[in-house]
Amino acid sequence: MTTEPPTTGPAQAGGPGEPGGLGGRLARVREGVADAAAEAGRSAEEITTIVVTKFHPASLVAELAALGVGDVGENRHQEAQAKAAELGPSWPDLRWHFVGQLQSKKARQVRAYASAIHSVDRAALVDALRSDEASVDAFVQVNLTDDPGRGGVAPGELDALVERVLATPGLRLRGLMAVAPLGVPARPEFARVRELSERVRRLAPDAGALSMGMSHDYRDAILEGATHLRIGTAITGNRPA
Ligand SMILES: *Cc1c(COP(=O)(O)O)cnc(C)c1O
Repeated sequence: MTTEPPTTGPAQAGGPGEPGGLGGRLARVREGVADAAAEAGRSAEEITTIVVTKFHPASLVAELAALGVGDVGENRHQEAQAKAAELGPSWPDLRWHFVGQLQSKKARQVRAYASAIHSVDRAALVDALRSDEASVDAFVQVNLTDDPGRGGVAPGELDALVERVLATPGLRLRGLMAVAPLGVPARPEFARVRELSERVRRLAPDAGALSMGMSHDYRDAILEGATHLRIGTAITGNRPA
């Protein structure tokens, strides 16, 4: 891996390795992930922590990369595209995960820098992602609420969307993604996603990945089988306004 001169910025206050700094928060989350994995009888190696860096400057992403982070997540195309372009030359191996709602007309542009898209949630988007180029990893997002504005396919429409992804060149189905609804215990929600995943694996035996778990509920997600955590504030600190 390439090394970069240390950058400065608010996220680094206290020094990157100190408890109040970025490195300290990253280390605490890594410990939390290891503890939850041990509790679940799983290997922490099978769990990918994606650090969600939305709203933070590219300099913070570079600090994370220098600390050994290999996977970062963004939820807005323009911001993600600009950061990926800025950091690509120094950090060519950094993997960019797109985790936000995605307009079909932006789909091709996201393909250009993203190694994974976690928010595949409707047929029109699947069609817009069709490509003869190298496959991008795709997670089908499931909506666990009754509010269509939250993003994600309704569980009743999941099988049809999964079949469409499987039939679309340029997409490699990895599994499911979900955000736990607000105001209810997260663990039963994640258990529901795990059950839906069993249905998906009947159609696509290799698509067992589960992208679920954020700063406040990643332990529950790990206990229900999460393979990809999307963790923002617990590592980055609060997002700039
Ligand atoms: C912002 C975001 C996260 C991270 O949220 P935190 O609570 O900061 O950990 C995870 N997933 C998605 C889809 C997000 O938009």
